[in-house]
Amino acid sequence: MRIVLLGGPGSGKGTQAKKLTEKLGVPQISTGDIFRAALKEGTPMGLKAKTFMDKGELVPDDVVIGVVEERLAKPDLEKGFMLDGFPRTLAQAEALDKILTSLKKTIDHAILVDVPDEELVARLSGRRTCRDSACGKMYHIMFNPPKAEGKCDTCGGDLYQRDDDNEKTIRERLAVYNSATSPLIDYYDGQGLLRRVKGVGPIGEIFASIEKVLG
Ligand code: AMP
Repeated sequence: MRIVLLGGPGSGKGTQAKKLTEKLGVPQISTGDIFRAALKEGTPMGLKAKTFMDKGELVPDDVVIGVVEERLAKPDLEKGFMLDGFPRTLAQAEALDKILTSLKKTIDHAILVDVPDEELVARLSGRRTCRDSACGKMYHIMFNPPKAEGKCDTCGGDLYQRDDDNEKTIRERLAVYNSATSPLIDYYDGQGLLRRVKGVGPIGEIFASIEKVLG
């Protein structure tokens, strides 16, 4: 099954993507994670991406599309994939369609995790992530706190706040989402692929709604 996950920053799509990939046994392809990993390794692509990420802006389409094209050419995608955080612009969505056509594949579902803007700001400013990249578990200081402050319940790793999860950058990311990414809702709706899920409430309930729309 080939899925695109849409939703604003902090909509919980990363959390749902992790659960879904476990259930479906398909890889999660998160462009944000790819950029953060590249930055950690200090590659030129990672350093370039950082200049945009720190401001809450989008990394230029040609860079992102190149990264995804390379990833989609890897041989581990026979059962499908879950795209998380890509596409984010119409140009990226059109490029994705082209890449898939050349691979003789199509998207099966575009799932929108729908959350109001005010809720997104509250969520993002309290978000914390486990620094151990193999774990990467996410918490929220109010809605889903760890048992011991600053420590991951699962692996004991340190929790950190992403550089781009500060109020100013959050507002910019939301503005970018509303102008550049939300047109994708109509794009996939027009193709009959959009599945809208309410992204407010317990994580398990949201996951159940996603399972339901996938049939
Ligand atoms: P995320 O982890 O999905 O919230 O992405 C973090 C940041 O990485 C975004 O705010 C962008 O700066 C950059 N980024 C991730 N995916 C994309 C994309 N598809 N297009 C442009 N920029 C992206």
